[in-house]
Amino acid sequence: MTPAAAPARTPTQKLRRWLPWGLLVALVAALLGTLLWLARSYETEQVQRALERDNADAVADLRHALTADAQALRRMTAAATPPQWEAAAQELLIAHPAWLRLEWRNAGLHPRAAGDSPFASQPLPLPADPAALQDACFEARQSGAASFAPSRFMLREGLGVEVMPMCVLVAPSNAPQTYAIAYYALDGVLDYMLDENYKRRQSVSLTEPDGTRLASHGAPRRGARIFTSRQTLDLPGNPLVLRMDGWRGAPNLFPDVLSVTVTLLAAALAVVLVMLGRDFRRRQQAEDELADALAFRKAMEDSLVTGLRALDLQGRITYVNPAFCAMVGYAPEELIGRSGPAPYWPAELTDAYTRRRAARQATGGSTLQGIESEYQRKDGTRLPVLLIEAPLITATGKHSGWMSAVLDLSEQRRVQERQRAAQERLQAAARLAAVGEMASLLSHELNQPLAAISSYANGSLNLLPGAWQTGDAAQLADVRLALGRIAEQAGRAGRVIHSVHKLVRRGADARTAAKPLALAEAVLPLVQLQARKLGAGVDVRIPPELPSVSCEPVMVEQVLLNLARNGLQAMAAAPGERVLTLSAECASPDAGAAARPWVAFSVTDTGEGISPDVAEQLFTPFFTTKAEGMGMGLSLCRTVVEQHGGTLGYTPNTPRGTIFRFTLPVALEHENQEELQV
Ligand code: ADP
Repeated sequence: MTPAAAPARTPTQKLRRWLPWGLLVALVAALLGTLLWLARSYETEQVQRALERDNADAVADLRHALTADAQALRRMTAAATPPQWEAAAQELLIAHPAWLRLEWRNAGLHPRAAGDSPFASQPLPLPADPAALQDACFEARQSGAASFAPSRFMLREGLGVEVMPMCVLVAPSNAPQTYAIAYYALDGVLDYMLDENYKRRQSVSLTEPDGTRLASHGAPRRGARIFTSRQTLDLPGNPLVLRMDGWRGAPNLFPDVLSVTVTLLAAALAVVLVMLGRDFRRRQQAEDELADALAFRKAMEDSLVTGLRALDLQGRITYVNPAFCAMVGYAPEELIGRSGPAPYWPAELTDAYTRRRAARQATGGSTLQGIESEYQRKDGTRLPVLLIEAPLITATGKHSGWMSAVLDLSEQRRVQERQRAAQERLQAAARLAAVGEMASLLSHELNQPLAAISSYANGSLNLLPGAWQTGDAAQLADVRLALGRIAEQAGRAGRVIHSVHKLVRRGADARTAAKPLALAEAVLPLVQLQARKLGAGVDVRIPPELPSVSCEPVMVEQVLLNLARNGLQAMAAAPGERVLTLSAECASPDAGAAARPWVAFSVTDTGEGISPDVAEQLFTPFFTTKAEGMGMGLSLCRTVVEQHGGTLGYTPNTPRGTIFRFTLPVALEHENQEELQV
C-alpha cells in the first residue's frame, strides 16, 4: 500500500509494447511485397509464353511458306522449256514479292535462264558467293529438298539488303537435272511472308545464331520493357533465327486483374493496419489516462486519514485502505476476505454489532449521519469510531455491497474531555471567587447565630444552678427555651456552612433528578444573606409540585446563585422597591424538540436594567461593568444551561429591571430521583 505515482514507461517496456506492432507491419509489408512480386512474375511469364507461342507459330508459318515456294519453283521449272521459263518466272516473281531474282542453272550450275523481280527497278548485281551457292545446291541434290545458302549483304538501289539464295533441285524424269535458284530479300521474307498478326504487337527480325540482325520489321519501343523470343528456323544450310521483341502487353505496375486485386487488397490491408494503429494509439492513450487516474485515486486513498472499508453483499470485506488498517492495527491480508464478526469488534459487542449490521443490510439503508461504535485494536486497546455507511452501486446500477467511512473519534474525545475539565476548573474558581466575595457577609451571618448561641448558653448557665436547686418549672422552661434557641441558631449556622460547602465542592455530580424548589432552597441562605445587606426582599415562587428536572444540581445551583447575585447587584443603586423573585414553571416543549417537557426558571429583579451596549457583550467572557467583577458569571451560566440541553436568555422586566430565564429538561420516569437535602 505505498502511494503510487503515475507509472513512467522504461525504454524496454516501450520497445516490448511496440515490437509486436513493428513485426506485424514488417510481416504484412513482406507479404504484400511477395504477392506483388509473384503477380508480376506470373504476368511476365504469361507475356513471355504468349510471345514464344507466337514465335513458334511464325517459324512454322515461314517454314511452310518457304517449302511451298520451293515446290512452286520446282514445278514451274520442271514444266518449262528455256524460252517459256522466263515468262513463267515473271509470273512467279509477281506472285512472290519476297524474291528478288530467279535463276535456272544446269547441273554444273551454269546459268540457263534468269529473271529479276518486276518490283525492282534494277537487276540484282550477281552472282552471289558462288561457293556458298554451290554448297547449297549440293545439299539440295543430296536431300532432294530445298536448301539455303547463308545470306549476303548487297547494295541495291542505294539500299543495303540481305539476300539469301534458295537452291532447288529440279529433276524431271524425261530431262537432265537442273537447279532453280530463288534469291530471297530477307526484308521481303518478313514483309510479305509473315502474317500481319505477328507484326502488329511486336518487332520481328531475322538474325544469325550469334544475334547479328539481318532484317527486321518494326522497331522495338523505347523505354518499355522488352520481351524477347528467339527460335531457329532450321532451314537446311542456313541456321537462321527468328527473333521477336514484344512490347505488346509489357507488364506495368497493374498488369491485370490479379495484380489489381492484390494491390487493392494490399492497400486495404495497409488502411486496416493504419486504422488498427490509430485504434491502438487511442487505446494506449486511454490506458495511460486510466493508469494516471488509478494512481491518483490510490494516492488519494492512501493519504486519507478516514478509514475506508468495502463489504460485498455477503458481508465479506473486499477492500480496506491504509488508514483503516492503521486504525485497527490489522494488516490488509488479515481483513480482506473475512466475513462474519470482524476481528476488530470487541467480544462483548459482537452480538449487538452482528444484529445491527444484519438490520442495516436487510433494509439496504445507509447511515449517512453516522453511527458511533467502538472498535478494538489488535493490541486490545479500544477506540471510539464514527461509522458512515452507504450502498455501493456499480456503473451499471447494480447494488454490489457497502462502502463505509470510519472516523477515529479518540482525539475528538480527548479534546472534549480536556475542555470539560478546563470548564470544570473554571467553574470551581468562579465558585471560590463568589465565596471569597461573600466572606465578610458570611462571617457577619455566622457571627449572629454564634453570638445568639453564646448569649443563650450564658443565660442558660446563669439560670441552670437556680433551676437545678429549686426545681422551678418556669426556670426550667426558660432553660429549655434557651437550649431550643441554641439548637435553632446552630442549625441556621449549619445551613449556611452547608450551602457554602456544597457550592465550593467540585461539582462532578452525575445527572440526577432534582426538584426545582430544592434547587432554589439550596442557594437561598446565600441569596438572602446578600439581599439583607442591600435591604432587598427575596420572593420564592416555585410550586413544590413541579416535576423534577434532570441536571447536575451543583451546577444549576451556581447558575441560580449567579443570576440572583447579578439581580441583587443591579438593584443596589436602583431607586424604589427592591425585590428579587425566583420562580419556576412548566414550559411547553419547543417545536421540533423531543416531546420532553421543560421547566423554565426565572430570576427577576427590579434593578436598573440592561443598556444596549451592555447587552451586546453580555455573554462575552470577562465582560463586566463592576469594579470587582470577573465577567465570567453569565458566560458560565449559559455553558452550563446549554450542556443540559436548555437555553438561557433575558427580557426586560416591567416597570423596571430584568428577567433572566433558563430551561431544564424534566426528568424521565426511570431517571434517578434524589431528594435534595437543604
Ligand atoms: P460579573 O457579574 O462578574 O460582572 P457577569 O457575566 O455575571 O459578570 O455579568 C456581566 C455584566 O452583565 C455585569 O457586569 C452587568 O453589567 C451585566 N448584568 C448582569 N446581570 C444583570 C442584571 N440582572 N441587570 C443589569 N445588568 C446585569
